[in-house]
Amino acid sequence: MASTPIVTMSTETNVSPVVSPAVPLSTETKVLPSIETKIPSSTETKSSNPIVSVAFEKITSIKEIAPIIEERFKHLSFLPRDQFNLIAYGGSVLACDVDDMVFMNEATRQFCITGLLDGVDCKVRGLSKKIGDDTYTLCEVDTITEICNLEKKGMKIIFVTRRGKASEEATYQQLQAFGIRAPQVWCTAGIPKGTFVKEKLPGLDGGLLFVVDDEESNLQTYVSDTAYRSDRVVLLQYMTYTN
Ligand SMILES: [Mg+2]
Repeated sequence: MASTPIVTMSTETNVSPVVSPAVPLSTETKVLPSIETKIPSSTETKSSNPIVSVAFEKITSIKEIAPIIEERFKHLSFLPRDQFNLIAYGGSVLACDVDDMVFMNEATRQFCITGLLDGVDCKVRGLSKKIGDDTYTLCEVDTITEICNLEKKGMKIIFVTRRGKASEEATYQQLQAFGIRAPQVWCTAGIPKGTFVKEKLPGLDGGLLFVVDDEESNLQTYVSDTAYRSDRVVLLQYMTYTN
């Protein structure tokens, strides 16, 4: 039976993750590392902080997002498809990272490839486009199609990037150049992503916030006392490289 380590982390200090003994997982439980994060509370001392478990799933393809959404709402699968979509997709939001999630700066990708096994990027990438002074490459052939399909089913898509505010227009144009018609872009400019999104999107109207990001440290910011409760978000770590 497959097993997965549990990683314990604290948001208070930059300590290295501690890997505890592996626990068995059923074959149905695709998930993956469970992170226990200490969340500071305004009414509690550091020594009595509650521990909030933040689990996230690793995905290697953007095509895995829709099945994960379907799974989360499988208790409603008896509904006619249009009603199911209205609740599962129409009531949910996808906070989608941009760099190394939708597309990659080609110069950065070439640099990263040198550190990969045998110096080869094993993933099949999508279109490359020169936009301004730089060339960008879609992380996958179907990246844009998949995002548009989620949107067509009613999902609200927000592109959340740590780029500076001044990059908002450029990011918009880059996404548009690849075929996203009217992307909603939020540049957090250094503010933790979860805190930033929570401020702009305080209520989820009973729906779920799906987050996809290649950086684990960004995912962690979505569950805290300034962001969301762990049961309101579904965190997906996108593995940009598979080797
Ligand atoms: Mg990224």
